[in-house]
Amino acid sequence: MPQSDTENRTGAPTRRSRAAPALAALHPFLLLKRLMPAGLYWRSLIIIVAPMVLLQIVVTYVFLERHWQLVTERLSAKTIAEIAMLLEEFEEDPSPFHAARITRRAGENLGLPVAFLEGERLPDTASSTGGLLADSLNDEIRKRIARPYWINTLRQNSYVDIRIAYDGGVMRVLSPASQVYASNSHIFIVWMVGTSIVLIIVAIIFLRNQIRPIERLAAAAESFGMGRDVESFRPQGASEVRRAAQAFMDMRARIERHIEQRTAMLAGVSHDLRTPLTRFKLQLAMLPDGPEIAELREDIAEMERMLEDYLEFARGHQGEPSVETDLADLIAEVRDDAVRKGHDVKLDLHGDLTLPLRRHAFKRCLTNIIDNAGKYAPHVWVTAIRDAEQDDAGSIDILVDDDGEGIPDDQLEEVFRPFYRLDAARNLDKGGTGLGLAIARDIARGHGGDITLARSPMGGLRAIIHLPV
Ligand code: ADP
Repeated sequence: MPQSDTENRTGAPTRRSRAAPALAALHPFLLLKRLMPAGLYWRSLIIIVAPMVLLQIVVTYVFLERHWQLVTERLSAKTIAEIAMLLEEFEEDPSPFHAARITRRAGENLGLPVAFLEGERLPDTASSTGGLLADSLNDEIRKRIARPYWINTLRQNSYVDIRIAYDGGVMRVLSPASQVYASNSHIFIVWMVGTSIVLIIVAIIFLRNQIRPIERLAAAAESFGMGRDVESFRPQGASEVRRAAQAFMDMRARIERHIEQRTAMLAGVSHDLRTPLTRFKLQLAMLPDGPEIAELREDIAEMERMLEDYLEFARGHQGEPSVETDLADLIAEVRDDAVRKGHDVKLDLHGDLTLPLRRHAFKRCLTNIIDNAGKYAPHVWVTAIRDAEQDDAGSIDILVDDDGEGIPDDQLEEVFRPFYRLDAARNLDKGGTGLGLAIARDIARGHGGDITLARSPMGGLRAIIHLPV
C-alpha cells in the first residue's frame, strides 16, 4: 500500500484543517497572540528587551535629535560669524599682502583654512540645500553676509566647502566638519547599544537558569503522564517552581502508593478466589462425565477467564518499567499469536517505530484490539505510521481495520465502558467479558495516548491507537 494512501486513511486532523479561519486571524489581539512566541523563555526575553528598545528609541529621538540640532546650529553660526568677520577685514584692505596675513591668522588662531582667490567665480553646480547642516549654514550666511555664496556639505566627514563671492574674486573656506556640526554624537548611540547588548546577554543567562527548572518539571510531568520513568527529577529553581515541583512529586508518590495498594489487594483477592475455583475443578474431575458436568466445567473455565480479565483491568500496568521497544517487532509478535489462533492478519508498517513502552502492557493492548478484530471479522489489516508533523516530538498511529460487522456509530464510545458488550444483542457469544477494550484504552492512556474507534474503509471497525513518541 503506498504511503500517501495510508496517510489519508489515518483520519487524524492535520495542522491545516485545525487552523483558525483567515478573518478571525486578522483581529489585532489574535494576531498578537499568534505572533507572540509560545515558550516562556522567548516571552520573558521579549518582556525584558521590548521596553528597553522602546526606551532607547525614545531617548535617541527626543534627546539626540534636539542635541544634534542645537549643537549644529550653534557651531555653524559661530563659523559663519568668523567668516563674516574675516571677509569684512579683507574688504577693508583687499591687497594680496593683507589677504595673506588674514589667511595665516585664520589658520593659526581659528583653525580655518581660508583662501582669497582673485578673479575666481562661484562654481556653476548647485549649492547644497536640505539637511540640518546645509539649512543652518544657508540661514546664517543669508543673515550675516548677504552676498552670493556657494556651499558643499556633502563631504561631511572631512570638510565643508564654503565659498563667498566679493568684488573681483571668491573667498574659499574649507572648514573642518567638526567645527560646523555635531559629528561625534554617534558615540552616545554606540555606548547605549553596547551596554544594552551586555544587559541582554546577562538577562539571557539569568533567564535560562530560571526557566530550565520549569522545563524540567514539564518534561517530568509529561514523562510521568506517558508512563515513563522520572527517577532523576529534583525540585530546583525559584521558590514557586520548587513548590510546584514538590507538589508534583507528592502527587506522583500518592498515585503510585494508591496503585500499589490496589495491586496488593487484588493479588490477595485473586489468590483467595482462585483457591476455591481450583478445588471445584478438582472435585469435578473426580465426578463421572456427563452433560451437566461438562456445563459446570465450562462455567468454571469462564469464571476463571473473567477473573483474569477483571484482575488485569484492576491491576493496571504501573509496575512495569518503560523500555525502548520496536513496535514493528511487537506488532509482528501479536500478529503471529493471532495467526496461531486462526485469524487472518496483514501488516503494513512505515517508518521508524521505536519508542519507550511498557512492553507487556502494550502487547496486551494490541492483542485485545487485534484479537477482537479477528474474532468479529474474517480479515484484519494492521497499519502503523510514524507521523512527525502532528506534535513537536511526533507520534505513532496504529490502525487496526477489519471487514466484519463493525459497531454502530452511537456505540463507538459505549463499548469502552467496562463490562459493556454488544454480543448479547447480536445473539453472539464469543466468550468475552466486556473488559477487552476498557483494558486496551487504559493501557494506551497510560502511555499518554488513546484509542478511538471509527468505521473502517474495509467495511468493519477501525481502531486507532495513537501514541506520542
Ligand atoms: P469483549 O471482551 O467482550 O470482547 P471488548 O471490550 O473487547 O469486550 O468489546 C466490547 C464489545 O465491542 C464486544 O462485545 C463486541 O461486541 C464489540 N466489538 C469489539 N471489537 C469489535 C470488532 N472488531 N467488530 C465488531 N464488534 C466489536
